[in-house]
Amino acid sequence: MVRQIKQKPMNWIERLYIFEAFRGLFTTMKHYLRGFFRYETLPTVPYPEMKPEILPTYRAKHRLMLRPDGTPRCVACFMCAAACPANCIYIEADSSLDGRIEKKPSRFEIDHLVCVFCGLCVEACPVDAIRMDTCDTSYVHRTREDFIANLETLTQWNPNDYSQNDVLSQAAPGGIKNQQALESWKLRVY
Ligand code: SF4
Ligand code: SF4
Repeated sequence: MVRQIKQKPMNWIERLYIFEAFRGLFTTMKHYLRGFFRYETLPTVPYPEMKPEILPTYRAKHRLMLRPDGTPRCVACFMCAAACPANCIYIEADSSLDGRIEKKPSRFEIDHLVCVFCGLCVEACPVDAIRMDTCDTSYVHRTREDFIANLETLTQWNPNDYSQNDVLSQAAPGGIKNQQALESWKLRVY
């Protein structure tokens, strides 16, 4: 259905155009000067000097969770790679020396040029080893290779940037979910 928009007829002052041209210039100058003197009232953010607030639930860059000994919590099960709709997770598995864990990743890469930030890898992980809660949305690199996050970059995060719960979740081999599961398992067995 075609919707007709009725325009208000111009009065004689508007038909002179000269006043309307100055009104337009005034609006432009008002926003221009506001950017200098009251930029905090603007609906935009002067990035990169000021960064917008990102909610922790936002699906930002990935990180791999760590065990207390600093090794990745990932058990190289390939569930995240299987769930990834963009096929941008590359994992190579190695045997683990830790008796409780069969495998560990020797290579873990995510190509951020291909990733669609759907979060399915996070959902698929059975041991809560991968998260997207870094609030880091800056993707500026010089080469295509630099957009590929590897085991080293994915595990380089500062625990002080995250909540206490996050630190506590490092205490169990599989994270807090695994710890809870182990406790309920003990209750059932003993
Ligand atoms: S966020 Fe989605 S597309 Fe990106 S690595 Fe995870 S599953 Fe793949
Ligand atoms: S990140 Fe999680 S789902 Fe992916 S391979 Fe490691 S343990 Fe498996």
